Amino acid sequence: MNSISEFDSPPYQRAIQQLDRAAERLKLPQAIHERLRYPRRAMVVSVPTPMDDGRTEVFLGYRVHHNTVLGPTKGGIRYHPDVNLGEVTALAMLMSWKCALMGLPYGGAKGGVACDPARMSQRELERMTRRYTAEIILLIGPDLDIPAPDLGTDEQTMAWIMDTYAMTQGRTVPGVVTGKPLLLGGSFGRREATGRGLVYALYQAAKHTNLDLRSARVVVQGFGNVGGVAARLLWREGCHVVGVSDAKGGVFNEHGLDIRQLLAHVKETGTVGGLAGADSITNQELLELPCEVLIPAAVGGQITDQNADRIRARIVAEGANAPTTPEADRILEGKNVLVVPDILANAGGVVVSYFEWVQGLQFYFWRESEINSRLQELMTRAFKNVWSQAQRAGGDLRTAALILGIKRVAEGFEVRGFYP
Ligand code: GLU
Repeated sequence: MNSISEFDSPPYQRAIQQLDRAAERLKLPQAIHERLRYPRRAMVVSVPTPMDDGRTEVFLGYRVHHNTVLGPTKGGIRYHPDVNLGEVTALAMLMSWKCALMGLPYGGAKGGVACDPARMSQRELERMTRRYTAEIILLIGPDLDIPAPDLGTDEQTMAWIMDTYAMTQGRTVPGVVTGKPLLLGGSFGRREATGRGLVYALYQAAKHTNLDLRSARVVVQGFGNVGGVAARLLWREGCHVVGVSDAKGGVFNEHGLDIRQLLAHVKETGTVGGLAGADSITNQELLELPCEVLIPAAVGGQITDQNADRIRARIVAEGANAPTTPEADRILEGKNVLVVPDILANAGGVVVSYFEWVQGLQFYFWRESEINSRLQELMTRAFKNVWSQAQRAGGDLRTAALILGIKRVAEGFEVRGFYP
């Protein structure tokens, strides 16, 4: 295998470790395995952005397409200070396996800008987003590559990307992004889709392990679009959501938090910290709380060989992308903790992105109940496929999910062959 220094970074090394493990089990042909270790194309751009104080700051932006074997590429755009080429490439690879596992007609992509959106004004974010879009414009399009929200981006970001793209085309092109505002051709249920999909996957995980979710204690790391929605839905189901955190820290109440009260508190103060009737804890303490279900739904690399042996959950459902390192996976497996892996647990977002894209292409929009029931159908089917694969081959759900996803992409390469 050649060296991969351009992309070298811990997230990329971990993605490669996972790919290599699955490739060995699948006995992938050498050419296909080698090809899958690299992205098809990767673009690095500088994004000069006039700031409100008159200075111009240059941010680094990326867009990476992992493969286009099964269709156009799909994946989010993240704004976070830690974004770099290696991380974006690893996440693009994960999107390939995720889309293939879910049976969506896409290859994987990811993009990002290394910036701290929490410290930027809306006007600065708009200028940065528009310039970033202009820089990657050759790579995106409704049948080429379709971005979506990810960490640090939202519906408004997608509206700016769509508008910038539309301006270069002289017409409105709703299909160039998903996760758009409803008014611009967004889909009902897209905003909640990742958290809701995670809950559907969790129903299956609980069913297959005889866990009564209704009396389960749940801990959620991250109270954004994924963790916040999952916490609310599970609380409504009657689960005891005993701990929740955001980037600034967490809150804990062993009898269960009132999520409606917490949502109102976050709306008022911008953070979960300081909630009345709850103790404050750090993010590290939160991960180690006694509970039945742990949902890491913040940034990657949270469960590592440093803390995995202190995780006390029965099920870890990964709302974030790559929250668990391969070393931690082995430790959790040894402790019989069931990990519902990211490419399955958080696939609800890209599934409803697919629904949004299809609706946009047809100019025919579905009801929210239709979206949610189709989402549940796809999540349930994918969970069952992964579960049976794990039973057949022996091993954890991540390996099973990766095997199913990677197998589908590899078969695409096999049928299409390499050009020339
Ligand atoms: N950013 C989300 C993910 O990591 C959604 C991607 C999409 O909808 O294209 O799966």
